[in-house]
Amino acid sequence: MFHAKAYSAASATAPLAPTTIARREPTPHDVQLEILFCGICHSDLHTVRNEWSSLMSTVYPCVPGHEIVGRVTRVGSAVTKFAPGDLAAVGCLVDSDRTCPECKAGFEQFCPGQVLTYNAPDKHLGGVTYGGYSDGIVVDERFVLRVPSNLDLAGVAPLLCAGITTWSPLRHWGVTKGKKVGVVGIGGLGHMGVKFARALGAHVVAFTTSPSKKEDALRLGAHEAVVSRNADEMRKHAASFDFILDTVSAEHDLNAYVQLLRRDGTLTLVGAPERPSALAAFGLILGRRSISGSPIGGIPETQEMLDFCGKHGITADVEVIPVQKVNEAYERMLRSDVKYRFSIDMASLKAA
Ligand code: NAP
Ligand code: ZN
Repeated sequence: MFHAKAYSAASATAPLAPTTIARREPTPHDVQLEILFCGICHSDLHTVRNEWSSLMSTVYPCVPGHEIVGRVTRVGSAVTKFAPGDLAAVGCLVDSDRTCPECKAGFEQFCPGQVLTYNAPDKHLGGVTYGGYSDGIVVDERFVLRVPSNLDLAGVAPLLCAGITTWSPLRHWGVTKGKKVGVVGIGGLGHMGVKFARALGAHVVAFTTSPSKKEDALRLGAHEAVVSRNADEMRKHAASFDFILDTVSAEHDLNAYVQLLRRDGTLTLVGAPERPSALAAFGLILGRRSISGSPIGGIPETQEMLDFCGKHGITADVEVIPVQKVNEAYERMLRSDVKYRFSIDMASLKAA
């Protein structure tokens, strides 16, 4: 066991503060990383504030962070994929049972024995797993990803959650050239959804509540941008979308987006608001439309997404901050005041 510096929350109402945590010594299959950047996902905020208690209560102290990129410092004796000095990344999962049909199919995100990067039982040290708001982490190599060498690392970190969570449903629902695709909520996830849908060849429409993001959405790759609070703008797109990806973190009217789907179109939720939404049956019935959800992504498709990003030069648009600004960053994220992801420069932890 060794100690790592970290930022943790002591309760649902406490700000994040500096702390020291225990990490395991690498076992034969483990890789130890020095964390260089960690993105701030809205799920970190939901968890720190225990907003998902109906699904899983938060155990305190909580060290969030599942958008991790770093450099390998040590490897266990049986590790074959990595050597000290390599760039590497860790996302939302650090383990799974590896034997169930989901794991065998590369869908670790559906494994009943999956272990999340933070706030999950830690079979090695007891207690719960601790995430990436830290200067180091030890993870089984099977859950460590290779990072293309041509990309800006601060912008790579958010690919590990915001990237894969939008990539996976776009691929699953066959987004490609000739499809009309909507992305709702232009935050960390949404801006990656726009970039990916465009790169996959779709006609992309961004939906935002922030008029100030309209121009930017076009720069990110959208062909059109709609201010969703403007009913006239929304009506123009009635019954026209093959697929809409909803990344919104707070309650909002889903029926307005169901109405925009063409026959047999699908609205997929990746945003996970604290409270449930009301859905009108006729919106679905009359167009034989579907509504669905999608969690993060499996390890093989996360590597596929990272390789695609390397090939196409895609990273997240980030505002790099020192870890000391994390509480301020949470408040700004709640106000949709970030373009489009905070990425914590972990070198700042040395000063903590
Ligand atoms: P984020 O950066 O805060 O973006 C959320 C966006 O939603 C905001 O930028 C804003 O976009 C829009 N929005 C916020 N409040 C709204 C409201 N009241 N009404 C309408 N739109 C609103 O968050 P994120 O990190 O992208 O995460 C988004 C959601 O996905 C969170 O709930 C997060 O927990 C969830 N998530 C799910 C998974 C999964 O596996 N399914 C993985 C990661 C995250 P505009 O300013 O453009 O309107
Ligand atoms: Zn996340």
